[in-house]
Amino acid sequence: MAERITGHTELIGLMAYPIRHSSSPAMQNEAFAKLGYDYAYLAFEVGADEIEDAVKAIRTLKMRGSNVSMPNKTLVGKYLDELSPAAELCGAVNTIVNDNGHLTGHITDGIGFMSALKDNDIDVIGKKMTIVGAGGAATAIEIQAALDGVAEITIFNRKDEFWNRAVSTVEKINAKTSCHAVLYDLADLDKLKAEMDDSFIFVNATGVGMKPLESQSVVPDKSYFRPELIVIDVPYSPLETKMRSMAKEVGCKTMNGLGMMLFQGSAAFELWTGEPMPIEHMKEILH
Ligand code: NAD
Repeated sequence: MAERITGHTELIGLMAYPIRHSSSPAMQNEAFAKLGYDYAYLAFEVGADEIEDAVKAIRTLKMRGSNVSMPNKTLVGKYLDELSPAAELCGAVNTIVNDNGHLTGHITDGIGFMSALKDNDIDVIGKKMTIVGAGGAATAIEIQAALDGVAEITIFNRKDEFWNRAVSTVEKINAKTSCHAVLYDLADLDKLKAEMDDSFIFVNATGVGMKPLESQSVVPDKSYFRPELIVIDVPYSPLETKMRSMAKEVGCKTMNGLGMMLFQGSAAFELWTGEPMPIEHMKEILH
């Protein structure tokens, strides 16, 4: 680090609270060093009351940009000059790019998910996806999948505080993209089975499977799976979940959330530098 930081080094931030647990600083700094970019990436504890001032600091300090996480993802957009189409539709930003004082907000979670599929030779374009979830991760995936050309998306969620967000996501997808989206209550298990039977890919984009819900599954039992169905988890801690072990027993191809995590970081790296992360090197570091 002492050799790498000079008077020319530019700063990239990560603004969220809490944030000290994040693996993004290690991941981004490793990639900058590997490809020789003169950037340093640091995490800043910035809460909802401070995000407006933090955005001013991006301009004042002439930072190259920043990542943004909770609670700021849905708050920061109004302080920026421009939003990407996906960030506009999601109503959320996780990456800011500073081009000579002009700040653009992007959301790379959905891009990360779609890139992770491609990296696993899974081609979902023109096909049908069934997905459980209506929170931040799910919305980003649903919007990006629709923008990228997934033909049909069936969303399931509980009737909890996220339900209205799913209603709004379905309306936006149907109004603004060529994808057809529908929403059902996750309690309707017959519908869940029927939609899974008709889908190319099934995605769990809820916190179920991750601590403290690690012993649970959004799919009640393995009769819901057939060997041709591709089964994806967005949670990645623990890496193995009850849902995917049931799917594997049936013979399904499965993927965990690590790829999405890596590729959302790579998409942000590419927005700041113009080239993707050295993915194979990063996989070695992560695994
Ligand atoms: P969120 O709080 O915004 O959304 C939570 C979602 O889970 C909602 O749809 C909610 O209805 C659903 N849910 C919660 N408890 C449930 C239960 N008991 N049964 C059924 N549904 C339930 O969270 P988020 O930020 O969207 O994160 C969701 C998951 O995705 C988390 O596990 C998170 O760690 C993971 N994630 C992974 C990546 C990645 O890069 N792989 C990125 C972001 C989030």
